[in-house]
Amino acid sequence: MAEVKAKKSLGQNFLKDENILQKIADSFKVNANDLIIEIGPGMGALTKYLIQKPSSLFCYEIDERMKDILLSFKSEKVEIIFDDFLRRDLQKDLKQDFEHIYVIANIPYYITTPIIEHLLESAMPISGMTLLVQKEVALRFCASPKTKDYGYFTVFLQHFFEIHKLFDVFPNAFVPKPKVTSSVVQFVRKEKIYDLDVSSFCSFLKQCFQYKRKTLRNNLQQYDWSKIQNILDKYGFSLNVRAEELSYEIFVLLFKSLFN
Ligand code: SAM
Repeated sequence: MAEVKAKKSLGQNFLKDENILQKIADSFKVNANDLIIEIGPGMGALTKYLIQKPSSLFCYEIDERMKDILLSFKSEKVEIIFDDFLRRDLQKDLKQDFEHIYVIANIPYYITTPIIEHLLESAMPISGMTLLVQKEVALRFCASPKTKDYGYFTVFLQHFFEIHKLFDVFPNAFVPKPKVTSSVVQFVRKEKIYDLDVSSFCSFLKQCFQYKRKTLRNNLQQYDWSKIQNILDKYGFSLNVRAEELSYEIFVLLFKSLFN
Protein backbone atom coordinates (compact mmCIF):
# COMPACT_ATOMS: atom_id res chain seq x y z
CA MET A 1 0.00 0.00 0.00
CA ALA A 2 1.37 3.44 -0.93
CA GLU A 3 2.48 5.49 2.08
CA VAL A 4 1.32 9.10 2.47
CA LYS A 5 3.71 11.70 3.94
CA ALA A 6 2.46 12.77 7.37
CA LYS A 7 1.10 16.32 7.71
CA LYS A 8 1.86 17.80 11.11
CA SER A 9 -0.92 20.38 10.71
CA LEU A 10 -3.48 17.54 10.63
CA GLY A 11 -2.08 15.83 13.71
CA GLN A 12 -0.87 12.89 11.65
CA ASN A 13 1.05 10.45 13.83
CA PHE A 14 0.29 7.04 12.46
CA LEU A 15 0.11 4.17 14.91
CA LYS A 16 2.26 1.25 13.83
CA ASP A 17 2.19 -1.12 16.80
CA GLU A 18 -0.13 -3.95 15.75
CA ASN A 19 -0.65 -5.24 19.32
CA ILE A 20 -1.85 -1.84 20.47
CA LEU A 21 -4.07 -1.40 17.42
CA GLN A 22 -5.66 -4.78 18.05
CA LYS A 23 -6.22 -3.96 21.74
CA ILE A 24 -7.89 -0.64 20.87
CA ALA A 25 -10.12 -2.32 18.27
CA ASP A 26 -11.14 -5.03 20.77
CA SER A 27 -11.86 -2.60 23.60
CA PHE A 28 -15.64 -2.97 23.21
CA LYS A 29 -17.56 -6.09 22.31
CA VAL A 30 -19.84 -5.11 19.45
CA ASN A 31 -22.58 -6.90 17.57
CA ALA A 32 -24.17 -6.72 14.12
CA ASN A 33 -26.72 -4.07 15.12
CA ASP A 34 -24.06 -1.73 16.50
CA LEU A 35 -22.09 1.07 14.89
CA ILE A 36 -18.47 2.06 15.37
CA ILE A 37 -17.44 5.62 14.46
CA GLU A 38 -13.77 6.16 13.66
CA ILE A 39 -12.54 9.74 13.41
CA GLY A 40 -9.30 10.15 11.49
CA PRO A 41 -8.67 6.69 10.02
CA GLY A 42 -5.57 7.99 8.22
CA MET A 43 -4.00 5.11 6.31
CA GLY A 44 -6.38 2.61 7.89
CA ALA A 45 -4.08 1.17 10.58
CA LEU A 46 -6.98 0.78 13.02
CA THR A 47 -9.66 0.56 10.34
CA LYS A 48 -8.30 -2.77 9.09
CA TYR A 49 -9.13 -4.26 12.53
CA LEU A 50 -12.46 -2.46 12.87
CA ILE A 51 -13.79 -3.79 9.55
CA GLN A 52 -13.39 -7.32 10.93
CA LYS A 53 -16.07 -6.61 13.56
CA PRO A 54 -19.69 -7.67 12.97
CA SER A 55 -20.87 -4.04 13.42
CA SER A 56 -21.20 -1.24 10.87
CA LEU A 57 -18.39 1.30 10.62
CA PHE A 58 -18.48 5.00 9.82
CA CYS A 59 -15.17 6.78 9.22
CA TYR A 60 -14.46 10.52 8.91
CA GLU A 61 -11.17 11.57 7.34
CA ILE A 62 -10.29 15.14 6.38
CA ASP A 63 -7.26 14.29 4.23
CA GLU A 64 -8.30 13.34 0.70
CA ARG A 65 -4.81 11.96 -0.01
CA MET A 66 -6.02 8.87 1.94
CA LYS A 67 -8.81 8.22 -0.59
CA ASP A 68 -7.08 5.43 -2.53
CA ILE A 69 -6.23 3.55 0.63
CA LEU A 70 -9.45 4.07 2.57
CA LEU A 71 -11.92 3.51 -0.26
CA SER A 72 -10.60 -0.06 -0.48
CA PHE A 73 -12.30 -0.65 2.91
CA LYS A 74 -15.70 0.55 1.72
CA SER A 75 -18.51 -2.02 1.75
CA GLU A 76 -22.19 -2.35 2.51
CA LYS A 77 -21.45 -1.87 6.20
CA VAL A 78 -18.48 0.50 5.92
CA GLU A 79 -19.02 4.17 5.05
CA ILE A 80 -16.15 6.61 4.60
CA ILE A 81 -16.71 10.35 4.58
CA PHE A 82 -13.93 12.68 3.46
CA ASP A 83 -14.62 15.87 5.37
CA ASP A 84 -13.82 17.78 8.53
CA PHE A 85 -15.52 15.77 11.26
CA LEU A 86 -16.27 18.96 13.20
CA ARG A 87 -18.45 20.24 10.35
CA ARG A 88 -20.60 17.14 10.08
CA ASP A 89 -24.14 16.76 11.33
CA LEU A 90 -23.94 13.27 12.79
CA GLN A 91 -27.67 12.77 13.12
CA LYS A 92 -28.01 13.43 9.37
CA ASP A 93 -25.05 11.23 8.42
CA LEU A 94 -26.30 8.18 10.30
CA LYS A 95 -29.45 7.46 8.40
CA GLN A 96 -30.37 4.24 10.18
CA ASP A 97 -30.83 3.33 13.86
CA PHE A 98 -28.24 1.31 15.72
CA GLU A 99 -28.51 -0.59 18.97
CA HIS A 100 -25.27 0.83 20.36
CA ILE A 101 -22.90 3.46 19.03
CA TYR A 102 -19.20 3.32 19.93
CA VAL A 103 -16.42 5.71 19.00
CA ILE A 104 -13.05 4.00 18.59
CA ALA A 105 -10.28 6.20 17.28
CA ASN A 106 -6.74 7.49 17.36
CA ILE A 107 -7.87 11.09 17.08
CA PRO A 108 -5.83 14.13 16.01
CA TYR A 109 -4.52 15.67 19.25
CA TYR A 110 -4.91 19.29 18.14
CA ILE A 111 -8.71 18.99 18.26
CA THR A 112 -9.27 16.42 21.01
CA THR A 113 -11.68 18.57 23.04
CA PRO A 114 -13.66 19.92 20.04
CA ILE A 115 -14.12 16.36 18.74
CA ILE A 116 -15.52 15.12 22.04
CA GLU A 117 -17.71 18.22 22.44
CA HIS A 118 -19.04 17.74 18.92
CA LEU A 119 -19.88 14.10 19.65
CA LEU A 120 -21.66 14.95 22.89
CA GLU A 121 -23.53 17.93 21.49
CA SER A 122 -24.83 15.77 18.65
CA ALA A 123 -27.04 14.19 21.35
CA MET A 124 -26.42 10.75 19.91
CA PRO A 125 -26.62 8.03 22.55
CA ILE A 126 -22.96 7.00 22.57
CA SER A 127 -22.55 3.81 24.60
CA GLY A 128 -18.80 4.04 24.82
CA MET A 129 -15.63 5.54 23.41
CA THR A 130 -12.04 4.35 23.28
CA LEU A 131 -9.77 7.22 22.35
CA LEU A 132 -6.02 7.49 21.99
CA VAL A 133 -5.10 10.93 23.30
CA GLN A 134 -2.14 12.83 24.70
CA LYS A 135 -1.27 11.48 28.18
CA GLU A 136 -1.66 14.84 29.89
CA VAL A 137 -5.12 15.21 28.37
CA ALA A 138 -6.01 11.70 29.55
CA LEU A 139 -5.04 12.74 33.09
CA ARG A 140 -7.46 15.64 32.83
CA PHE A 141 -10.26 13.36 31.67
CA CYS A 142 -9.77 11.00 34.63
CA ALA A 143 -8.91 13.63 37.30
CA SER A 144 -10.42 13.76 40.80
CA PRO A 145 -11.47 16.95 42.62
CA LYS A 146 -8.69 18.90 44.36
CA THR A 147 -6.06 17.91 41.79
CA LYS A 148 -4.44 20.24 39.26
CA ASP A 149 -5.85 18.28 36.31
CA TYR A 150 -9.47 18.64 37.43
CA GLY A 151 -11.38 21.18 35.30
CA TYR A 152 -14.68 21.95 33.64
CA PHE A 153 -14.15 19.32 30.97
CA THR A 154 -13.51 16.58 33.55
CA VAL A 155 -16.86 17.37 35.16
CA PHE A 156 -18.62 17.67 31.80
CA LEU A 157 -17.39 14.22 30.74
CA GLN A 158 -18.45 12.71 34.06
CA HIS A 159 -21.99 13.73 33.23
CA PHE A 160 -22.05 11.01 30.56
CA PHE A 161 -19.34 8.50 31.30
CA GLU A 162 -17.30 6.42 33.72
CA ILE A 163 -13.77 7.10 32.52
CA HIS A 164 -10.66 4.94 32.88
CA LYS A 165 -7.19 5.12 31.44
CA LEU A 166 -6.44 1.70 29.92
CA PHE A 167 -2.70 2.02 29.15
CA ASP A 168 0.04 4.37 27.93
CA VAL A 169 1.45 4.36 24.40
CA PHE A 170 5.01 5.57 23.94
CA PRO A 171 6.25 7.70 21.01
CA ASN A 172 8.09 4.84 19.30
CA ALA A 173 4.73 3.14 18.58
CA PHE A 174 4.02 5.90 15.99
CA VAL A 175 5.41 7.15 12.69
CA PRO A 176 6.39 9.97 12.89
CA LYS A 177 7.09 9.84 16.63
CA PRO A 178 5.10 12.44 18.58
CA LYS A 179 6.97 14.49 21.21
CA VAL A 180 4.64 13.32 23.97
CA THR A 181 3.47 10.07 25.54
CA SER A 182 -0.10 9.07 24.71
CA SER A 183 -2.76 7.11 26.59
CA VAL A 184 -5.72 5.00 25.60
CA VAL A 185 -8.78 6.12 27.54
CA GLN A 186 -12.08 4.30 27.77
CA PHE A 187 -15.41 6.05 28.34
CA VAL A 188 -18.39 3.88 29.34
CA ARG A 189 -21.81 5.48 29.33
CA LYS A 190 -23.38 5.81 32.78
CA GLU A 191 -26.55 3.82 33.35
CA LYS A 192 -28.36 6.85 34.70
CA ILE A 193 -27.69 10.26 33.16
CA TYR A 194 -29.28 13.32 34.79
CA ASP A 195 -31.78 15.00 32.51
CA LEU A 196 -30.45 18.51 31.92
CA ASP A 197 -29.70 20.83 29.04
CA VAL A 198 -26.22 19.72 28.02
CA SER A 199 -24.97 22.89 26.35
CA SER A 200 -26.22 25.15 29.22
CA PHE A 201 -24.60 22.80 31.73
CA CYS A 202 -21.33 22.99 29.78
CA SER A 203 -21.44 26.84 29.75
CA PHE A 204 -22.22 26.87 33.48
CA LEU A 205 -19.23 24.63 34.21
CA LYS A 206 -16.98 26.89 32.12
CA GLN A 207 -18.12 29.84 34.24
CA CYS A 208 -17.49 27.96 37.50
CA PHE A 209 -13.92 27.20 36.44
CA GLN A 210 -13.34 30.47 34.53
CA TYR A 211 -10.68 31.86 36.85
CA LYS A 212 -9.23 28.77 38.49
CA ARG A 213 -7.60 30.64 41.36
CA LYS A 214 -10.77 32.58 42.21
CA THR A 215 -13.51 31.34 44.51
CA LEU A 216 -16.77 30.01 43.12
CA ARG A 217 -18.44 33.12 44.48
CA ASN A 218 -16.22 35.32 42.31
CA ASN A 219 -16.85 33.24 39.23
CA LEU A 220 -20.63 33.10 39.71
CA GLN A 221 -21.36 36.68 40.75
CA GLN A 222 -24.33 37.09 38.42
CA TYR A 223 -26.38 34.29 40.02
CA ASP A 224 -28.74 34.11 42.98
CA TRP A 225 -26.10 33.36 45.55
CA SER A 226 -28.59 32.34 48.29
CA LYS A 227 -29.47 29.25 46.23
CA ILE A 228 -25.81 28.38 45.81
CA GLN A 229 -25.11 28.96 49.48
CA ASN A 230 -27.91 26.60 50.53
CA ILE A 231 -26.26 23.74 48.67
CA LEU A 232 -22.74 24.57 49.79
CA ASP A 233 -23.90 24.73 53.44
CA LYS A 234 -25.70 21.43 53.14
CA TYR A 235 -22.52 19.71 51.93
CA GLY A 236 -20.19 21.46 54.40
CA PHE A 237 -18.40 23.81 51.97
CA SER A 238 -17.43 27.34 52.98
CA LEU A 239 -18.17 30.46 50.97
CA ASN A 240 -14.55 30.49 49.88
CA VAL A 241 -14.77 27.19 48.07
CA ARG A 242 -13.15 26.91 44.61
CA ALA A 243 -14.71 24.99 41.74
CA GLU A 244 -11.86 22.46 41.73
CA GLU A 245 -12.97 21.22 45.19
CA LEU A 246 -16.49 20.26 44.13
CA SER A 247 -17.63 16.89 42.80
CA TYR A 248 -19.75 16.34 39.70
CA GLU A 249 -22.83 15.67 41.89
CA ILE A 250 -22.53 19.09 43.56
CA PHE A 251 -22.28 20.84 40.19
CA VAL A 252 -25.48 19.12 39.08
CA LEU A 253 -27.26 20.31 42.25
CA LEU A 254 -26.00 23.86 41.75
CA PHE A 255 -27.05 23.88 38.12
CA LYS A 256 -30.51 22.49 38.89
CA SER A 257 -31.13 24.97 41.69
CA LEU A 258 -30.17 27.92 39.46
CA PHE A 259 -31.77 26.89 36.17
CA ASN A 260 -34.83 24.78 37.03
N1 SAM B 1 -6.04 6.36 12.73
C1 SAM B 1 -4.75 6.53 12.10
C2 SAM B 1 -3.69 5.77 12.86
O1 SAM B 1 -3.98 5.35 13.99
O2 SAM B 1 -2.60 5.60 12.34
C3 SAM B 1 -4.38 8.02 11.98
C4 SAM B 1 -4.38 8.79 13.27
S1 SAM B 1 -3.76 10.42 13.15
C5 SAM B 1 -3.32 10.68 14.82
C6 SAM B 1 -5.19 11.45 13.04
C7 SAM B 1 -5.98 11.42 11.73
O3 SAM B 1 -7.05 12.37 11.83
C8 SAM B 1 -5.20 11.81 10.49
O4 SAM B 1 -5.42 10.86 9.49
C9 SAM B 1 -5.77 13.18 10.08
O5 SAM B 1 -5.73 13.43 8.70
C10 SAM B 1 -7.19 13.06 10.59
N2 SAM B 1 -7.83 14.36 10.86
C11 SAM B 1 -7.25 15.50 11.31
N3 SAM B 1 -8.17 16.47 11.47
C12 SAM B 1 -9.37 15.93 11.13
C13 SAM B 1 -10.71 16.41 11.09
N4 SAM B 1 -11.00 17.68 11.44
N5 SAM B 1 -11.69 15.59 10.67
C14 SAM B 1 -11.42 14.30 10.30
N6 SAM B 1 -10.16 13.78 10.34
C15 SAM B 1 -9.16 14.57 10.74
